[in-house]
Amino acid sequence: MASVRWGLIGATVIGREWMVNAIREAGGEIVAVMSTDRDRGRAYAEEFGIPLSVTNLANLFASGIDAVYISTTNERHRAETIAAAEAGIHVLCEKPLATNLADAQAMVAACKKAGVVMATNHHLRNAATHRAARDIVRSGKLGRPLSARVVHAGYLPKHLQTWRLNNPVAGAGAIFDLTVHDSDLLRFVLSDEPEAISTVAQNGGMAIDGIEDAAHSVIRFRSGLIAHLWDGFTTKYAETSLEVHGTDGSLVARDCMSQSPRGTAIVRTATGDEPVELDHQNLYVRGVRAFHDAIKGKGRPAATGEDGTISLAVALAALESARTGKLTPIVSGVTA
Ligand code: NDP
Repeated sequence: MASVRWGLIGATVIGREWMVNAIREAGGEIVAVMSTDRDRGRAYAEEFGIPLSVTNLANLFASGIDAVYISTTNERHRAETIAAAEAGIHVLCEKPLATNLADAQAMVAACKKAGVVMATNHHLRNAATHRAARDIVRSGKLGRPLSARVVHAGYLPKHLQTWRLNNPVAGAGAIFDLTVHDSDLLRFVLSDEPEAISTVAQNGGMAIDGIEDAAHSVIRFRSGLIAHLWDGFTTKYAETSLEVHGTDGSLVARDCMSQSPRGTAIVRTATGDEPVELDHQNLYVRGVRAFHDAIKGKGRPAATGEDGTISLAVALAALESARTGKLTPIVSGVTA
């Protein structure tokens, strides 16, 4: 197969900052971009040297593409994914896959029925820190993992202080934005499944009333492991991290919950602290390469549609728990 021909659905910031470059660096060709706004779409196409700009899906699908990258606001993902699948086009969709479980399940089912690859852009699986953490947990060096902790708290930059803070229909809030990533990452690192969540949400004054701009959650996993997540948009000076603590050792990764390839990790055991050697690479390029391979019949995407459905189920349970104050079961209706 020649290079994969891509259509972008959404003239977006994530495309501008990471994905246009990632698709090209991974060997893909961007043929067209779809924006609902003709002028914005044209300007975007010009900025990135994309040959065609369209305003509807029919024209996008008629442009001879193999795959779409969907990075519109979250309430649009369902219709766009299903339409692409029905046109026989592979789908790389942003997280959260949708704003309710039925939509995500329908997206996965449509891609399955059409026989196209569906992936969720959970980029953190592709970080060197997190791949090393998964290998270390699997090696048994930490013994039996008992606790994990993720700090994914930062400051939402000014240019992103839009729908994430004020549009519930689009899936606003720190839980839809960040808790989905953390829960997916923990599933990946621990090879374990989340079963129940308890969440306390906060409005620290950045989001509109009724939308959380930070949240702390505790997840119980199938193995009995307990994980704590701190997600937020509002703290300028917090350091991100991932920790896994087992019966025989601890893994501590710092500055690693990031879009850029960076961070450090150590393993701490009875013999002291041992630095983990890391081969940092662009997370998004790695994700697109895996997606290209999956299209060509080699392996699976870094995160599948089922993985995205499970991370969405965690976010929905977190929101429910924050509302009711109760430990809430996590039910996704899919198996990864
Ligand atoms: P943007 O705010 O850039 O774009 C979202 C939608 O808003 C677009 O589809 C666009 O519609 C519309 N839009 C864009 N710019 C404007 C504007 N100036 N005026 C009016 N409407 C506009 O989204 P993000 O890039 O921040 O996020 C997009 C998706 O990607 C979300 O699902 C998000 O959760 C996800 N994401 C994932 C990340 C990851 O690392 N995996 C990181 C960041 C985001 P249209 O294109 O139709 O014109």
